[in-house]
Amino acid sequence: MRYADVNGVKSEAQPKTRALCRACGGEVVAKCGKHVIWHWSHISLATCDRWWETETEWHRRWKDRFPKDWQEVVQYDALTGEKHIADVRTRHGVVVEFQRSTIEPSEVKDRESFHQRMVWVIDGAKNESDCVNFSNMRTRPDDNGFAVFQWYGRSKLFHRWHTTTPVFIDFGDQYGFWRVCRFDPQNKKGVALLVDRSLFTAALIEGTSDFSRNGGPASAF
Ligand SMILES: [Zn+2]
Repeated sequence: MRYADVNGVKSEAQPKTRALCRACGGEVVAKCGKHVIWHWSHISLATCDRWWETETEWHRRWKDRFPKDWQEVVQYDALTGEKHIADVRTRHGVVVEFQRSTIEPSEVKDRESFHQRMVWVIDGAKNESDCVNFSNMRTRPDDNGFAVFQWYGRSKLFHRWHTTTPVFIDFGDQYGFWRVCRFDPQNKKGVALLVDRSLFTAALIEGTSDFSRNGGPASAF
């Protein structure tokens, strides 16, 4: 995690310091190596948030587009007692999850029902072949930014994120940031929208959209 409590203050990891986890209250120690992103790590092996994934530069760059107060917000469900850390939760109550590692469809569902109003941002540049394939398998975006595509790629990228929650895939600077508007897992055809990262961020910061109106890749055409 990027943040932990040092004397009650939400703080970033500094070499040779300890702090308390903001989710479980357990002790965490700063990991500030040359080759790792500075972060806090739990001392005990007990699982804190089972949804948490190891952060990369990609996660940090995205989170930094939002105010610090909105990053790593502990969410608590009083009914089930479940606690999870939202990567970003805006002042307007929208959770943004930045996801790089592959997760099971059941976890996708669990996280969506836990957070309710949420948006997925997926690291599509994890596999370079996905970037290239997507670029080759779509039309040029029209005047409004829409492109249609047919997925022949071997990866299950689009199948995996077949949900009615808004899904955005970040294929990196070269290949663009796309919203997956629709995807049909049977014929593997879909519609995607080229999105400006800054406009996306601004809409969430200003609260002008939570992107829910048009659903996700699995919503009805
Ligand atoms: Zn913890």
